Amino acid sequence: MPDRELRVCALYPDLMNIYADRGNLLMLECRCRWRGIGFVLTASDLGDELDPDVAQLYYIGGGQDRDQRLCALDLAEVKRDALHAVARRGGVILGVCGGYQLLGRSYELGDQTLPGVGLVDLRTVRVTGPRLIGNAAIEVQLTPGRPRVLAGFENHGGRTYLGPSAEALGRVLRGHGNNGGDGHEGVRERNVIGTYLHGPLLPKNAWFADWLIATALGGEALAPLDDELEEAAHADARRAAGV
Ligand code: GLN
Repeated sequence: MPDRELRVCALYPDLMNIYADRGNLLMLECRCRWRGIGFVLTASDLGDELDPDVAQLYYIGGGQDRDQRLCALDLAEVKRDALHAVARRGGVILGVCGGYQLLGRSYELGDQTLPGVGLVDLRTVRVTGPRLIGNAAIEVQLTPGRPRVLAGFENHGGRTYLGPSAEALGRVLRGHGNNGGDGHEGVRERNVIGTYLHGPLLPKNAWFADWLIATALGGEALAPLDDELEEAAHADARRAAGV
């Protein structure tokens, strides 16, 4: 039995899994197992009560507007309090694209305004203009020291605007980011993280997968791994973005 264990809860793993975002979960599992850290994955679907203590890391992938509608209502009605409890105790919450949009205050879709779970001060507006698509790279500063680069791919019709109390996850180096205008990408409030980057995100940014694991486990240092392939994937994603 490993003496440490990462428990991850995936919200709506079938509905919110665009661009194989579920690959992020596989990456977390592999990097834990390779180090002898246990890994337990649970899921919470439409209608399921969410246990705020079942996991140290909660994850929502991206999704189509149609599926987001169902999830937005469920998040607001069934899971909201539990997610706020997770955030208050410093648990990690990661939302990608559609999942990211739902962490905010609202998602305006035509004449409908979907409720967000209200963990972070941002709103998203679905415009009829072009989707923001392409390879992207952002510069992030999660720990003191040199900034790091997250590289991936974005494809969203929604434009996200941070409110006065929200901080971006990173600064756009290439691509569109939150809205194609203000140079911000994603959001970070303590251990609640949202980003538009797919790829899936974590296989292309192993260093970020490790930051999430270490943070979820309470800030413990992780044993290094042989990351030759992961670094090649990261370099490739950066090259694709032109960074
Ligand atoms: N449906 C959302 C949008 O288009 C999110 C898409 C996604 O998750 N890739 O903005």
